[in-house]
Amino acid sequence: MSKDHFEIAILAGDGIGTEVTEATFAVVEAARARIGGFSLQQTNILAGAGYYRDTGKDIEADGEERAGKADAMYIGAIGLPAIRAVDGTEIAPHLRLRERFQLYAGVRPVKAYKGAPRILLDEQANNIDMVIIRECTEGLFYTAAVHDRSPKTNADEARETLRITRSVTERLCDFAFRLAERRAQSGGKNMVTCVDKANVFQAFAFFRKIFDERAAHFPDIKSSHAYVDAQALELVKKPWALDVLVMENIFGDILSDLAGGLVGGMGMAASAEIGDNHCLFQPAHGSAPDIMGQDKANPLAAILSGAMMLDWLGWQAGNQKMVDAARLIEKAVEDGFADGGLRPMEFGGDMGLKDMTKAVLAYTSKTDLA
Ligand code: ATP
Repeated sequence: MSKDHFEIAILAGDGIGTEVTEATFAVVEAARARIGGFSLQQTNILAGAGYYRDTGKDIEADGEERAGKADAMYIGAIGLPAIRAVDGTEIAPHLRLRERFQLYAGVRPVKAYKGAPRILLDEQANNIDMVIIRECTEGLFYTAAVHDRSPKTNADEARETLRITRSVTERLCDFAFRLAERRAQSGGKNMVTCVDKANVFQAFAFFRKIFDERAAHFPDIKSSHAYVDAQALELVKKPWALDVLVMENIFGDILSDLAGGLVGGMGMAASAEIGDNHCLFQPAHGSAPDIMGQDKANPLAAILSGAMMLDWLGWQAGNQKMVDAARLIEKAVEDGFADGGLRPMEFGGDMGLKDMTKAVLAYTSKTDLA
């Protein structure tokens, strides 16, 4: 029998993070109640800039351990620009979670919803449906992250290190190929593109070499390469032709925001960070203090991240009901946009956080999954 009980560690965090997290778990619960076949136990973990201001700690005692014991972690948003650690850096316990649990595969789906705002005029932009896989633990962020904080800057020069390892790159590429394989079962294009700058940097030539080695293990999947500059152009010119793209950390950081902008921007950008034994889900946006507490936040990025969580856990555990519950939430958002029932303020609409949440809940209860 497949696993049917899951523990979720929730770090709602700061600003609109707490608001969109509440919306997300209301929708997740509605989908669970409708589909059945699994149960979720939520454990809340206090963390973030507000918690730091009140206690001097960025996460509650044993919070990291508890998060690591859960089947999945879910974050609303962490950090407030006005609250800084003693060394002037932002409060970011989630970066430690990423490091500690080796969440190397950052997953950013980029999907157009018919009826949602679209930047590109070409009708084919309605068919954008790709996933950007961003390596999250090394690359050019290696020295910026927890690894090496020794000063590399003097009055005349600043240096950073770009690190690519075989072990992480192999697992990252395998992740991308398996995802493409799975997407192909429901209309995906069965393609993985390696995005790099292998013509200039040894590190990226190494990345590409490993990609090619792993591609040989997935002969049924079409694999290709693109230089990051050409890929940026292609993302704007023909994004509907893309499927799964895999890349180093800083390239993924930039291209995933660019791609997200094609389909509605931050309020739509769901994301996951996956490792071999742990997984974390969170909307790609931050705590947006300018709109917190005003019933203005668009909860869709958070809700869609909740759907990704159900999908990933269900897929890993062989629990089809959970995968169906995830699909139900996605379909609710699709249907909501298609018939004009979802009009977020973020896109100039008349619906704030509460109305958006109510509307997604209504679609979740009536949407036809067939
Ligand atoms: P971080 O560095 O923490 O990711 P950021 O500086 O990128 O944060 P965000 O907090 O993501 O900034 O927000 C940028 C702006 O986008 C906000 O000021 C807000 O106006 C808008 N925004 C972000 N997320 C949402 C959302 N879910 N709904 C509506 N507007 C949003």
